[in-house]
Amino acid sequence: MKTTAAYAAVTAKTPLVPYSIERRDPGSHEVLIDILYCGVCHSDIHQVRDEWGGSIFPMVPGHEIVGTVVKAGLQVSKWKIGDTVGVGCFIDSCHVCEACKEGEEQFCEAGMSATYNGYEQDGKTPTYGGYSTCITVSEDYVLRIPAGLPLERVAPLLCAGITTYSPLRHFGVKAGDNVAIVGLGGLGHMGVKIAKAMGAHVTVLSHSPGKRNDALALGADDFIATGEKGAFEVNVKRFDFILDTISAKHDYNDYLNLLRRDGTMVLVGIPEPMPLAAGSLVMQRRKLAGSLIGGIRETQEMLDFCAEHNVVSDVEVIPIEKVNEAYERVLKSDVHYRFVIDMASLKKS
Ligand code: NAP
Ligand code: ZN
Repeated sequence: MKTTAAYAAVTAKTPLVPYSIERRDPGSHEVLIDILYCGVCHSDIHQVRDEWGGSIFPMVPGHEIVGTVVKAGLQVSKWKIGDTVGVGCFIDSCHVCEACKEGEEQFCEAGMSATYNGYEQDGKTPTYGGYSTCITVSEDYVLRIPAGLPLERVAPLLCAGITTYSPLRHFGVKAGDNVAIVGLGGLGHMGVKIAKAMGAHVTVLSHSPGKRNDALALGADDFIATGEKGAFEVNVKRFDFILDTISAKHDYNDYLNLLRRDGTMVLVGIPEPMPLAAGSLVMQRRKLAGSLIGGIRETQEMLDFCAEHNVVSDVEVIPIEKVNEAYERVLKSDVHYRFVIDMASLKKS
């Protein structure tokens, strides 16, 4: 056991505070990872504030982890000490159900072990995430970070990257498709970069008119400020595919009407529920789907794809002491475009 510095939410209504947790020595198939960087996902905020219900406290958030292997169990074959690795949104799953066998561990029928705010596969040991100095993980749930990428800009790929890559791939987005990315935050800005790297024509739809230049600089071909008069009317039936990353309650019907016949809209944002009008789907045989992160194999594929296309996140690196401030800025859609915690700040304190 190793006592480890961390930041935790002790209740849903209080700011994160310095905390300490125990990390176990790696078992025969586990590695101990020294954490260098951890991204701040809006899901951290939803869960810290118990907006999805069932949050487990104390909670050490963080599921966009990049670090170095510092210890390996005796039977570990995939990693050696000194390897640069990543950990995403889950650290284990049952290994034997259909979903796990197909490499879609995020849909594990027994329930994946979320990196934090969850339990290990024993069903009782709580998991603690990346706002900490180290983590012990099964070797099969660790990702290889391609060489040569700036690590602080890679960390967000472990959630924001895979969450946008997976639906773009799964629903067959291809070169020349007209793709809309809705919401330009952590997920949205990765969606722009990845869809663009896939050859799509990318339009950002944003409720922040001031993000126009950023959207274009990130690679978008076009920008629609959704608050502008007539924004929805003039773009009816324009897109083949819409990726909706909005974190707050909004009307899906407005966006569905922007899909052409047989087009698909995929929700990845997880806000409060909102009614859906059947006509929004029926009239043009449109499809509405959802998508949850991605499996280990696909996450590795995404990291390799990003390395090949030189895609990394645009980040603001912060010391851990600024994490509560960062949360407030994320809630105001004032993030450019992912906060990443430099864990050296936690090691120092
Ligand atoms: P984020 O950085 O806060 O980005 C969300 C964006 O949504 C904001 O930047 C803003 O973009 C837009 N937005 C916020 N409030 C809005 C409002 N009231 N009306 C319209 N647009 C609004 O969050 P994130 O980290 O990208 O996460 C986005 C959502 O995805 C969260 O709900 C998160 O929990 C979820 N998520 C899901 C998965 C999954 O596997 N499905 C994985 C990770 C995260 P503009 O300023 O451009 O409008
Ligand atoms: Zn996330």
